[in-house]
Amino acid sequence: MVNGYSPSTFKEALKILNEKDVIIYAGGTDLMVRYKNISSLLPKFDKDLLYIENLKELKEINESSSEIRIGAACKLSYLLQSDCIPQILKQAIKNIASPAIRNMGTIGGNICNASPAGDTLPVLYALDAKVKITSINNSKETEIKEFILGPKKTILENNEILESIIIPKADFNKIYYQKVGARKASAISKVSFVALAEIEKEEIKDLRIAIGSVGPSVVRVKEGEDALIEKNIKDINNLINHVQDIYSKKITPIDDQRSTANYRKNVALRLIKYFLTVEL
Ligand SMILES: Cc1cc2nc3c(=O)[nH]c(=O)nc-3n(C[C@H](O)[C@H](O)[C@H](O)COP(=O)(O)OP(=O)(O)OC[C@H]3O[C@@H](n4cnc5c(N)ncnc54)[C@H](O)[C@@H]3O)c2cc1C
Repeated sequence: MVNGYSPSTFKEALKILNEKDVIIYAGGTDLMVRYKNISSLLPKFDKDLLYIENLKELKEINESSSEIRIGAACKLSYLLQSDCIPQILKQAIKNIASPAIRNMGTIGGNICNASPAGDTLPVLYALDAKVKITSINNSKETEIKEFILGPKKTILENNEILESIIIPKADFNKIYYQKVGARKASAISKVSFVALAEIEKEEIKDLRIAIGSVGPSVVRVKEGEDALIEKNIKDINNLINHVQDIYSKKITPIDDQRSTANYRKNVALRLIKYFLTVEL
């Protein structure tokens, strides 16, 4: 038998986290699957639960001139209603599961679950997002790529919680998102692809490509992006093979029940070419 703690303030939650060995429970949409039991029986949690979904401190969205701060317990569906959430993140969220799951699942849960197929992750990597990690005595911010160590693994210590996600503002005038799944809705991705570019007078000023489900965590390749920065978009056809070669070495998907490594790699490389060569 496990207990559930329902703190009424964030401070109280941090105290419980510091003193007890608990599982942080936000929307529970990943946890209920991870700890599932035989049909009609209660899930088999092996530790007490710390419910955070009602903590108002974790449900706020704040915008300044330079960044957007999203509370970790914001529901995915709530983010869709906010004017300050970048469209590319909304696009990814609209592709997550079904409305019912989006009404329960949180952005913090999607990040902390650290699935290679987590759909907000490629967008957050492409946007250079940071995360704020808090414990009873400390708070720190780190880049999302440093936060996620691999499937289901993050740098969070037992007494730490993901408090918020910080998205620096940036301008992009070529934007592309594609989730490739077995069907249009309610599918876990075989490949998810995000590309953002700022192109001025045909010159690529900024370019970010982030690909999910093709490695243990999201793939973003500095060498690939650097090969394109300051290049003329009209010369891309001469560069495309070189760029695809760079990405090909870094994309290391696996065969699983959803797809094959070969398919995933081919699709990812073709999406790179599509983004760079097609006028969107
Ligand atoms: C039917 C179904 C379909 C799905 N489809 C998709 C899909 O298409 N795309 C996709 O990306 N995901 C999908 N998911 C997964 C899931 O819905 C999302 O990952 C969701 O965002 C998880 O959020 P949650 O609040 O429910 O997380 P929870 O289940 O509450 O938690 C997930 C993990 O994160 C930890 N955690 C949560 N919040 C915090 C925090 N603030 N600080 C520290 N640790 C924390 C928990 O301890 C747990 O380890 C699906 C799930 C189901 C059941």
